[in-house]
Amino acid sequence: MKERKTEEKVAIFRNLFTGLLHTYGTYNPLSGRARQVKAPVTDRVFLDHLTGRQPYGVYLLIKDRTRAIAVDFDSENRLTVADFVGRAKHYGISAYVERSKSKGYHAWIFFEEQGVLAKKARLVMYHLIDEIGKPEVEIFPRQDMQNPGTPYGNFINAPLFGALVKQKKTVFIDLRSFAPYPDQWSLLESVERTNESALEEIIESNDLSSAAPPMVSCTNSQNSNGRYGLPICARKMLRDGVSQFQRSSCFRLAIHLKRLGLPCDMAISALKTWALKNRPINGRGIIRDSEIISQTSYAYNHPYSGYACQDAAIKPFCEPSCPVKLGRESNRTIRFGKIEQKKEDALQQSNAPVQQEY
Ligand code: SF4
Repeated sequence: MKERKTEEKVAIFRNLFTGLLHTYGTYNPLSGRARQVKAPVTDRVFLDHLTGRQPYGVYLLIKDRTRAIAVDFDSENRLTVADFVGRAKHYGISAYVERSKSKGYHAWIFFEEQGVLAKKARLVMYHLIDEIGKPEVEIFPRQDMQNPGTPYGNFINAPLFGALVKQKKTVFIDLRSFAPYPDQWSLLESVERTNESALEEIIESNDLSSAAPPMVSCTNSQNSNGRYGLPICARKMLRDGVSQFQRSSCFRLAIHLKRLGLPCDMAISALKTWALKNRPINGRGIIRDSEIISQTSYAYNHPYSGYACQDAAIKPFCEPSCPVKLGRESNRTIRFGKIEQKKEDALQQSNAPVQQEY
């Protein structure tokens, strides 16, 4: 194994895992609570990460370009990530697999130094995922470009966090044995980068530019029957994000957006933007795009329309001045009449497609 000075390691790391230069992400290793840091990304930040003092998360998206993309496989199924790497290789793309900090794997692909359009990179990733049977994954960056609604995009924890390397986590692994490469730095020093023209070739030869966005499966696209508009609780949740019950919250918000008459695909877009504001507690991750699609589709494809004011995800955002509350208190019929509303609330409590919560 080649001996390297600390500065050399930092330089290799910086070369691969630099994104936004004035903002980065981190989390508390004890509580797992993630947060954003608005400060320059200096070598000190990298060093703290590599030595296990403070984790560093990279915001990969810079305007509409990215220098790397990561596909997050939440599953422990080795075959899936190996399949992905194989499909990438088929197209001449080198992917490098990192054992993630908690569960599953990250497949990293590195691009030429000036970066590539994130839209093209993401399109190609979706194609590869499609080819291996659409496993549940998340792609970082999660957007094609920064915009006023998502000025930072989202961060992904960088590999090689010192405190976890000892546990063989956050390290790059050899797919032949699924063991960590003995010399991580030699591997990283010699990564093969993919250029934009290679992505363009894949897009063109597979006619990807005209492909529909993946995995959207709503049928009931519009159902406008709102009487009170968007209630205060929903507006607060959409404005500030949530820190727990992300799946339930997503489902309830989708019902509100459906009631307003928003088409399903627009609701999904709005909820993806909403998810970026979420600050999950207890080390949990932000709700995945695939789960947003699933929850929203379920809300749109079933006859849910109630306010579910007693739902644990909604209650903390309730406002006494809400017309829905006042209407109920004055014993007025809201929509179906009290009995029907109770029935529907009970139905929602029991039938909602909410699985394990974030
Ligand atoms: S009463 Fe509270 S929980 Fe129910 S819709 Fe209004 S703000 Fe939301």
